[in-house]
Formats: sequence, C-alpha cells, structure tokens
Amino acid sequence: MKGDVTASGVREKAKSPLLGLGEREIASLIPSAPSYTARQIRAFCFAGRDIDGMTSLSKALRASLKEDYVANPVSVMRVYASRDGSKKYLFSLPDGNLIEGVFMPHDYGNTLCVSTQIGCRMHCAFCASGADGLVRDLHFSEILGQVVAVNAAEGGSVKERAVTNIVLMGSGEPLDNYDNVMRFLDEVTAADGLNVSERNISLSTSGLADKMKRFADSGRKVTLSVSLHSPFDEERSKLMPVNRRYNIAAVTDAARYYFKRTGRRVIFEYTLIAGVNDSDACAEKLKELTKGFPAHINLIRLNPAGTSLKRPTADAAKEFMLKLNAMGVSATVRHSFGEDIEGACGQLRRRVSAELAAEDKESARGRTEDRKGSKFTTA
Ligand code: SAH
Repeated sequence: MKGDVTASGVREKAKSPLLGLGEREIASLIPSAPSYTARQIRAFCFAGRDIDGMTSLSKALRASLKEDYVANPVSVMRVYASRDGSKKYLFSLPDGNLIEGVFMPHDYGNTLCVSTQIGCRMHCAFCASGADGLVRDLHFSEILGQVVAVNAAEGGSVKERAVTNIVLMGSGEPLDNYDNVMRFLDEVTAADGLNVSERNISLSTSGLADKMKRFADSGRKVTLSVSLHSPFDEERSKLMPVNRRYNIAAVTDAARYYFKRTGRRVIFEYTLIAGVNDSDACAEKLKELTKGFPAHINLIRLNPAGTSLKRPTADAAKEFMLKLNAMGVSATVRHSFGEDIEGACGQLRRRVSAELAAEDKESARGRTEDRKGSKFTTA
C-alpha cells in the first residue's frame, strides 16, 4: 500500500493494518508486551476499535503502535440510505482509493455485500466495476475491514453481529484475488475472529473454472454463485469476455465439481437483459445445463448502469422464471436493493471518484468548494 498524502502534500509512511493478523503475528510486533496483549489487540480489531480505543493497553503501547499501525485500514466515508432500507457504504482506503459495500436488512438477518478488488478486469458488458479495468487487488484486511466497519457502524459487536451474512458480490472478481479472499474467509469465520458461519457466506464468480476447482478442493464450504448470464457461448462471450477463456462447458463442469466436493448446491446468477437472454431457447438450454445436479438460478433484472442494454419488466422476469419452473428448473427473481442509491456494482465508486477528481482540479485552481447543497445525502 502507498502512503497517505496529508493536507500539506507530504507523503506519510504507510501504516500497516493490524486487523486480521494472528495472535503470533501481533505478538512478534510487540515483543516486550505481556503474552495476552496480542489476543486483546486481535479482539479489539474485530470489535471495530481503533488503537486509541484499545483502552486496556498502556498509553505508551498505544502511542508506539500508532506510529506504525492502524487497526482497520477501511474508513467509512459516506453512507447513502435507500428508501428500501438498504444502505450503500462508501469507504476510503489509506492510499486514497474508494470502495463500496451494500448493507441489506432482511427478516432473517442482515447481509453485507463487499468488494474484493478496486475495479475489475473482467469487463462484463453491463457492469460498471470493470468499465475502467483493474486498479488493484484488495488486501485481506481491506475486505475484512468493510465487514468490521459496517458491523460497528450498524451497532453490532463481535458476539451480537449486525452483519450476519456476507456476499462477495461487490466490485471485483474474488477468484482473481484468490489468496487475499481465502485469508479473508479464514479470518471472518475464525472462532476468535468474527465467527461467521461458512453457510452464511456466498462467493460470486464470473466463472474462473480452474480457481473454482481449487476452491472446491480447499475444504471451505461457502455458497458458490456463478455468473452465467447466457447459456450460449457466442452470446456469453459478448456479455462476458472471460467466456473466451473459460466457456460454458468448462464453467458448468467446475460447478458440478464444486457440488461433488462440497455437497453445496450451486447458484447460477442470470442477469436478465430484455431481448438478449430471455428467449424460450435460453430457458430450454438452461434446463439442459443445470440437469443432473442441484442448482438454482437467481434471475436478476439488469440495472442498465449507463449502458444501452435494456432492463426487462418485472412481469417479463416473472414469466421467464415461471417458464423455468414449469420445466422443473429451480429459479427465483432476486429482489434488487438500492436502485435509488446506485446499488449496482461499481456505480457509486465511479461517480464519486470522478466528482472528487473534479473537485481536486477546482481546488487546485484556488476555488473554495461549497459542499452545502451537493447531491450527497450522507445518512
Ligand atoms: N465478479 C463476480 C462478482 C461481482 S458481480 C461475478 O462476476 O460474479 C456480482 C453480480 O452482479 C454478478 O452476477 C454480476 O454479473 C452482476 N451485475 C453486475 N452489474 C450488474 C448490473 N448492472 N445489473 C445486474 N446485475 C449486475
């Protein structure tokens, strides 16, 4: 990670995150502290405390830790509340990059959608995250930091979590940042971490077949969601260039393998685009592709997100679902949260980054910016 640039323009030394480090790793950073201190620091980090808030540590230890470390590298920058009860969190990172997450309340608990990369290199035709390519991978502490920051902001603790479910469906391709995502999963599920059950975590992939198999072999049992979006290779390649590397046969083969190894039903995500992938022929082909193993199709109505692609009506989506159901295919239409707060992948980060860059240019010209009356609705 690069260092911060302060108001004076001086680049500060980058501070390393403590969040997610193991007890031994923390102990090695503070060799003269008593042995239980590392355990306390690890717990404080998961509870969302910053170093100043680790009040059972001596003042001297806190001061020396603060010179080189931060607890959580993720800070909540803005919160946008939707009419539907969901909230979009915009986070800032120590190098000035922005990422986003969506908090969605349900009657069975609350789901947080987290980002795994800044930008994305998959370039799916309908997705705002990949529009500008990949900026960088997120470090595991930066994925974990989103969960810890929102859990604390929503009034949760480690024991009584406000974030009960996690979906890796924000910006980025999780399996393209494999090692950090695996370490994230290990820490977020650890008994002395956040203790989230693997059953309450979903990982969504554009279909990197070899990594899907590696993930299946890793022994972790999270729900795997696979973005399919078309059952025909020619169309899928247009929507998802990654299909030229891993075609539908490779992706569905890896999905079957995931089921075989983990016993977990695989979810196929299918973003419905009017006139593109909602034909009878598509429904027939989907039946064929999901035959013989427990799979479920999650239909998502396209959020046009600035593209010329068209969103089907709610009735059309339901009709497609019923067609699949009538053929014996398990399918539902997913409720889309946060449509009034740019809930689709990467939309908000792109807009705010562009606005901040424009503001920077203006303030460089010596103009003072009056933030009152701006369209940000920070909750
Ligand atoms: N890279 C991963 C995870 C991030 S995207 C993946 O591709 O699965 C999470 C889901 O949202 C994917 O199914 C993606 O195709 C879908 N998605 C992205 N932009 C969308 C949009 N504008 N409208 C509807 N679904 C979208």
